[in-house]
Amino acid sequence: MNYFAGIDIGSTAIKIAIIDENRKLIGHKINASGSMFYKYAKEALETLLDNLSIKKDELAYTVATGYGRKLFKEANEKISEITANAIGAKEAAKEKCNIKTIINIGGQDSKAISLDSEGNVVNFAMNDRCAAGTGKFLDVVAMNLEIGVDELGNYHFKSKGAPLSINSTCAVFAESEIIGLLGNNHSIEDIVAGVHYSIAKRIIKLVKRVGIKDDIYFDGGPALNEGLVNAIENELGKEIFIPENPQITTALGAAVLANESYEYFKKSESQR
Ligand code: ADP
Repeated sequence: MNYFAGIDIGSTAIKIAIIDENRKLIGHKINASGSMFYKYAKEALETLLDNLSIKKDELAYTVATGYGRKLFKEANEKISEITANAIGAKEAAKEKCNIKTIINIGGQDSKAISLDSEGNVVNFAMNDRCAAGTGKFLDVVAMNLEIGVDELGNYHFKSKGAPLSINSTCAVFAESEIIGLLGNNHSIEDIVAGVHYSIAKRIIKLVKRVGIKDDIYFDGGPALNEGLVNAIENELGKEIFIPENPQITTALGAAVLANESYEYFKKSESQR
């Protein structure tokens, strides 16, 4: 059996997806990127292949994507996150919805991608200049509130009353704003909900730049946060689709492309 790997080397996390010849997801792995992207990505791939009992020569084709993709010299091919995200989203949502708008929030950037009815990218907008509206912002908030980033969703749903307004447009100023709110006896729950609504408003502005078309899909690590999903849905007044493993879908897209490229080269060789 041949296997195909997609490696998404993000600013915050390395994600690997392995699929088989039938495009079935066989396994995945998420590791912190740290400061040595290449070393950690290589180790993570080796560990995952070991755990899945896949021999090196059974890995037929590897595609790298994400911020650190250029460093991953073992990859047969490298593609942009936008392309990988679009392919992965289509794969993750197939038979469930017809995606026209992708919202992706990563560790240090956020993106809105507009697709045509065939799933081709027609436009995209990106914010990578400002941490507000990214996973980093949520990490800083969670750290200041002394809770885990995976607990933010629970706190959000326990908030009573209208969400607090968080006005800072920069993560550094937001940090002091949050400390000020805590000092004024606001609850962690209300602060968390306020942060989610401020990110939701910011991401909707970004999506409006490419146009909001149904079906709307959301992925990236912060899509695991149900509180943030709730705030975006409420602000949009629309339901959004979240795939089963929202953090690994860009890696999945790279794996699907690895399978397509392999089939393409195999076919061209046989026609020679
Ligand atoms: P990148 O591709 O830029 O490295 P990711 O899509 O991997 O980014 O997202 C990383 C972010 O996801 C983290 O900064 C964190 O805020 C968020 N995240 C990761 N795991 C969880 C979780 N279990 N619940 C909520 N948020 C999470």
